[in-house]
Amino acid sequence: MSKQGVNPDELSQPFWDAANKNKLMIQNCITCDRLQHPPEATCRDCENGELEWKEMSGKGKIYNYVVVYDCPVRMLQEDQPFNVAVVMLDEDPGIQMYSHLPGVPADEVPVGANVEVIFEKLPNGQNVPEWKISN
Ligand SMILES: [Zn+2]
Repeated sequence: MSKQGVNPDELSQPFWDAANKNKLMIQNCITCDRLQHPPEATCRDCENGELEWKEMSGKGKIYNYVVVYDCPVRMLQEDQPFNVAVVMLDEDPGIQMYSHLPGVPADEVPVGANVEVIFEKLPNGQNVPEWKISN
């Protein structure tokens, strides 16, 4: 099961709706043509830019990772230890997303490897983006 908390709010709702259609959408400022994640009410650079949602290729690279041995969230403790990898999107390495890399043993994360997005369904039906190593 996914270890990511999912709390869609007004700002992030389009992200989660897209995930339910197996799409990775990231907020983009039309004015300065810049992606930002997590979504915000305004562009972090120009503040009055017009924001849109852009579909990503779903491809990225593993930048780094940590292994969680002592998670404060009790529900997740039975899965310890688990990976938390930082994935940089191909469209913009500045956009980073976290993944548990399902199927990759703890502490065996290939840093620098290419990954592609997959979607895991939570018990409540919400899809969550996860990442797997590309062949
Ligand atoms: Zn902007």
